[in-house]
Amino acid sequence: MLEQKIQELQQRIDNSNRIVFFGGAGVSTESGIPDFRSVDGLYRQKFDLPPETILSHSYFLRHPEEFYRFYREKLVWPDAQPNPAHRKLAELEAAGKLLAVITQNIDGLHQMAGSRTVWELHGSTLRNYCMRCHTRYTKEELLSQPGVPRCSCGGIIRPDVVLYEEPLDPETIEGAVRALSEADLVIVGGTSLVVYPAAGLLDYTDAPVVLINKSATAFDSRAALVIDGAIGEVLSQITV
Ligand code: NAD
Repeated sequence: MLEQKIQELQQRIDNSNRIVFFGGAGVSTESGIPDFRSVDGLYRQKFDLPPETILSHSYFLRHPEEFYRFYREKLVWPDAQPNPAHRKLAELEAAGKLLAVITQNIDGLHQMAGSRTVWELHGSTLRNYCMRCHTRYTKEELLSQPGVPRCSCGGIIRPDVVLYEEPLDPETIEGAVRALSEADLVIVGGTSLVVYPAAGLLDYTDAPVVLINKSATAFDSRAALVIDGAIGEVLSQITV
């Protein structure tokens, strides 16, 4: 059954030249980064406050020390490497078959695998900036400071990630919507599709959608093909 579905995915990929991939935290679990909503995900672990609260704009401003303790421990994975899913998507782009990767992830692994057009809906832990003078800092520079990282001007450095209560970047949304509207095949994978407005972007495509996920989503009934499996294992069987 799984084999047949992977064959169907292969045929759809062979017949498409404007593929767009839309993914989430599940794309990086095979790189050792936990997602939020799987059984062993971050949301099932016990914290004093819900992760949505700790990762919100207002909490960050009020409690930067607590925010950074959580952030360093749970959201930055300096040793993570791309897995076969990231690498296959980069291969498809290099072969001229994939237009863009749209990701909710903040780990930079698609670019590390070689993907070039990556719309990062929720920003990236690789980029950081001073909230006062806007000087940019790398992830390594941020992590080299203990506690709340500070700029030489005295301002607090923050990650260039979209916190809860914050809007998405308009240019990123525009790029993602453009890619989705031009797609001839959309592959969605490793996402629970419950985080909005990100999940709502799938309304901007008329292309057939293939969904590769380890658990059911509200989008399953709209998909042309649903593959219940680990995305790295599935995509590693695709030939470009
Ligand atoms: P989510 O945690 O809500 O859902 C992950 C989904 O992926 C689940 O449906 C799970 O069953 C599935 N999954 C897990 N491993 C998989 C695998 N190997 N193959 C296929 N499916 C797999 O994640 P989300 O939908 O991306 O939304 C949560 C938010 O989490 C996003 O906004 C994102 O910014 C943030 N996040 C990012 C990272 C990261 O950058 N790697 C990690 C954790 C959370």
